[in-house]
Amino acid sequence: MREAGRISKNALIAGGHAVRAGATTAEVNAVVERFITSHGATPSFKGYNGFPAGACISVNDEVIHGIPGHRKLEPGDVVSLDVGAKYKGFHGDNAATFIVEGGRDMEQKQRLVRVTRESFYEGLKFCRAGNRIGDISHAVQTHVEKNGFSVVRPYVGHGIGRELHEEPEVPNYGRPGHGPRLMPGMVICVEPMVNMGTHLIRQLPDGWTVITEDGLPAAHYENMILITRGEPEILTVGDEEL
Ligand code: MG
Repeated sequence: MREAGRISKNALIAGGHAVRAGATTAEVNAVVERFITSHGATPSFKGYNGFPAGACISVNDEVIHGIPGHRKLEPGDVVSLDVGAKYKGFHGDNAATFIVEGGRDMEQKQRLVRVTRESFYEGLKFCRAGNRIGDISHAVQTHVEKNGFSVVRPYVGHGIGRELHEEPEVPNYGRPGHGPRLMPGMVICVEPMVNMGTHLIRQLPDGWTVITEDGLPAAHYENMILITRGEPEILTVGDEEL
């Protein structure tokens, strides 16, 4: 799973470098897929419940599950990439949000991306054997809401292993002391999906793309975490920090 995690992270990094003004989301997806397949892995998302691409690419008001296509990225676009790779029977899964350089009035967008990432690390502090899932959920939600943003509720983090999505669910909202107990050897994906405005979302008629109801941007950040007897270990580690 460390290997699957490393490939997933480096594919995400490669995709992030391809996020620039004028590039289409299909081109960014191609970079991600090429990286995964050239490292002996397969894109976990491609064909998953019929999803047509190796990466989910969600722009601006798109929260998650955006389908790569002809859309050309523009300066200031908020671009979330979600990337998974299956290697030797095990999945990796991670996500990050990038902002296309050259936009105006970027401060609030940059803050959204930063707070989303920070909220993952707030959750990580509770990824210890004996704690409960609700401890993680509460930490994520608290950090997001104290910064004036909101967490998406119908979509959640998850266990991962031989399947891309396994139990337990890992919501980004919840109460401390509630939910399944964490045990050494569990691997979970903590993935805050954070909206600048309302937490309400809806799905587009394409059956995939999830957008914010108020049209304001959203951000996403995800890593795969191994629960141990001591410190949690992030398994999606690559050649750069995201
Ligand atoms: Mg995930």
